[in-house]
Amino acid sequence: MEDKGIPKEQIYQMLRKYKEKDLTHRSGRILGSMCTCPHPVGIRAYSMFLESNLGDPGLFPGTKAMEDEVITMLGGLLGKNNVHGHIITGGTEANLMAMRAARNMRRIKDPEIIVPRSAHFSFKKAADMLCLDLKMAELDENYRMDLSSVEKLISDNTVAIVGVAGTTELGKIDPIEDISKICMEKDIYLHVDAAFGGYSIPFLKEAGYDLPEFDFTLPGVSSITIDPHKMGLAPIPTGGILFRERKYLEAMAIETPYLTEDLQSTIVGTRTGAATAATWALLKHLGKEGYREVATSCMEITYKLAEGVKEAGFELVTEPELNIVPFYSPDIPVKEIARRLEAKGWAVSLASYPQAIRVIVMPHLKEEHIDSFLEDLRTIKGI
Ligand code: PLP
Repeated sequence: MEDKGIPKEQIYQMLRKYKEKDLTHRSGRILGSMCTCPHPVGIRAYSMFLESNLGDPGLFPGTKAMEDEVITMLGGLLGKNNVHGHIITGGTEANLMAMRAARNMRRIKDPEIIVPRSAHFSFKKAADMLCLDLKMAELDENYRMDLSSVEKLISDNTVAIVGVAGTTELGKIDPIEDISKICMEKDIYLHVDAAFGGYSIPFLKEAGYDLPEFDFTLPGVSSITIDPHKMGLAPIPTGGILFRERKYLEAMAIETPYLTEDLQSTIVGTRTGAATAATWALLKHLGKEGYREVATSCMEITYKLAEGVKEAGFELVTEPELNIVPFYSPDIPVKEIARRLEAKGWAVSLASYPQAIRVIVMPHLKEEHIDSFLEDLRTIKGI
């Protein structure tokens, strides 16, 4: 660090040099991310609340009131107005909180959780941090959590079962309705990780898509992760965790000696209110109609991409259920396809099970990006 400060214009110039090295979502070249260009209204709202700390809500009652409204709005979207939760940093923190609540509700020796093999790696972090034994359920032929495998893994030590609504690699929705029945019958906590699908499944259903139930309308669902910084168009870091009942938040509340709230259940202490402001502003500004439009136009581009991929001689791992297209070629190894696409300037990502290229059709991907991607895919196949 230098002794004398640098003038601001020079600082901005220096920052631009770093920024030039980064990819942008706007370029349409990022094909493997669940983040996207934040909406301008979200950016403006975020920047208005930069000094607001929800870790000390007594100082920021306006932001706290907004957080309560956001939780109610998200709960309404997911089948229950009267839910309890927080706006936090993202899906990982939400899943950690859910697993912590489930563990603390039972407080038994050697607690176990059951997740599908397709679950996000945040559950491995949760298991490690919370000393949970992680049991992985197999997937069925459609890459959804296999119910017989779940039933075999349930033991007296099972403190939670996790279902995913929009898996990270393939965008699949687990049979949450059946898992909910099992959890009701056996009195087990059910967490639904809808970090990706939470902002699209309800809107797609409204638009007439035939998608399964996954939310609080199912009586066994205890908590849901929903990420505004994915399909919700909010700036990073913005996550959401919703609980059916307050007792789950209370199960992990810690006394806070010097703050304006007595108890705190979130993992993070100082917590930005800006994420809440952005989420609030976008829910109000876009409304159901705006989010329906975002979700359906991503699906239309997804179908176009899926058709184009097949026409270019590649095979789909599975037909898209949400806006992810996973594909491979029987005659070119997946890593080689990725290498060739990267050489043409595409930032792709690989699915691990099964091995495939996965393209996530986020709102920053427009038809013209897909057209030029398909053109490059065809050249890779020599078509
Ligand atoms: N859950 C699912 C289903 C995800 O796809 C992801 C990220 O892609 C996460 C959780 C973790 O979210 P974050 O990266 O915001 O912590």
